[in-house]
Amino acid sequence: MTSSAAATSLSSHGSARPIVEMTAHELLALQERGELTAVAIAEAFLTAAQQLEVHLRSFLWLDAEEVLRQAQAVDLRRRSGQPLGPLAGIPVAIKDVLCTKGIRTTCASRILANFVPPYDAHVIERLKAADAILFGKTNMDEFAMGSSTENSAFQQTRNPWDLQRIPGGSSGGSAAAVAGCQAPVALGTDTGGSIRQPAALCGIVGLKPTYGRVSRYGLIAYASSLDQIGPMAHDVTDCALLLQVIAGHDPRDSTSAPLPVPDYRGRLNEPVRPLRIGVPREFFDKGLDAEVESLVQQALRQYEKLGAKLIEVSLPHAPYALAAYYIVAPAEASSNLARYDGMHYGHRTRHKADLIGTYAKSRGEGFGKEVQRRIMIGTYVLSSGYKDAYYRKALKVRRLIKQDFDQAFEQCDVIMGPTSPTPAFRIGEKINDPLAMYLSDVYTVSCNLAGLPGLSIPCGFTREGLPVGLQLLGPPFSEETLLRIARMYEAVTDWHTRRPKLPVPPSPVTS
Ligand code: GLN
Repeated sequence: MTSSAAATSLSSHGSARPIVEMTAHELLALQERGELTAVAIAEAFLTAAQQLEVHLRSFLWLDAEEVLRQAQAVDLRRRSGQPLGPLAGIPVAIKDVLCTKGIRTTCASRILANFVPPYDAHVIERLKAADAILFGKTNMDEFAMGSSTENSAFQQTRNPWDLQRIPGGSSGGSAAAVAGCQAPVALGTDTGGSIRQPAALCGIVGLKPTYGRVSRYGLIAYASSLDQIGPMAHDVTDCALLLQVIAGHDPRDSTSAPLPVPDYRGRLNEPVRPLRIGVPREFFDKGLDAEVESLVQQALRQYEKLGAKLIEVSLPHAPYALAAYYIVAPAEASSNLARYDGMHYGHRTRHKADLIGTYAKSRGEGFGKEVQRRIMIGTYVLSSGYKDAYYRKALKVRRLIKQDFDQAFEQCDVIMGPTSPTPAFRIGEKINDPLAMYLSDVYTVSCNLAGLPGLSIPCGFTREGLPVGLQLLGPPFSEETLLRIARMYEAVTDWHTRRPKLPVPPSPVTS
């Protein structure tokens, strides 16, 4: 690598800003104006990523040469006047649950430690076609099960705002990479909150699209009826840009919706008026941290100042969402993870055993504690005799939760509340208490159970300097409106422009 992360670029106001602190849309504009090359961008982020990795540990895999090779190809095409895709030269960090052809994809699990996919996930194909730069694979909770990234079999990612704390999970590596300015944007996945919660805890924007909006082809399944892939970025515009590229029908995922994709950026800066915001009382219950509550209330006041009307709505079944989720998700996981037995897929034990013994030993060695717990819960709730009492009942609750939302959206355009009940907690604080950990997801899981789109945007910092997220939920396929509503708040606040001060500053500001 030649240049340093201290690389800066003049913004339109003439002030120098570090490249690594810029958003994707700023980097695109600078390249179009010929003021910055894809290689300069790649070099700046590679230097930052490498320098900060000792603190953040966001990446499971990052190959500088490969990144530079992609960037050089983009620059070459630009110089020769060829048309370029909408994410040309933009580094995108990829959660390690998405299959990347020829690049190890581990799900942060020992059982897939040596898995090199022979194909790309649909979203990876789309990123490549958009001329984005695949910028490494990010750490996560094993098989996306967790809320702190502590369940990774390989390393502990830390929160860029406080290195003693978790970045949230399960897309903690993607969130830390973006918040810590190691990459401008990232992809995460969200089964019960894994994009929105780490986005909230790291002070960035994260969008979980409507179920079916983005193809799951090549996404290693956790709970197939809940999983969705989505963007994580510094601001709403970058989320819109990324969603534009990854959204749309794909016949290889039978649950992918055959619907046209709107122009997410086109009307992004047009406020939604009139705007009716539903505020569910169930999202402001006793488990909610007082500082989080007050910052969320301030954000709601801000929307009122922008002309929105706040309407109290009720989601009467919301208190049962977490219980239903922690039945449905493990049930599907136990089925999806049955294939990793050392014979069909995944790590095989070195111990000699008969067939069943090989399965048991391979799985015992390959899966971590939390994944084993989920497989056991899932197998239990699906077993004959318990299926009606647990799994079928959870599906009924799921239906009621969906109906609650349908009714609420008759009165409002968007539902708002906190993303996470607390700011980022300390590493180790909840790892031995699964129920406390599961409670982190109390406000995020209903959105997945109902298949809705959800967005988390930064709405302030606690006295200790920890970011807090505001959650926006909308009716199915309302991403365009949701992004516009989020942008209204972003346009009058500056939380999204803050960057953490890390022990090795990514770059000194030179003017
Ligand atoms: N924390 C939740 C779980 O462990 C959600 C995870 C996710 O969205 N992938 O299941």
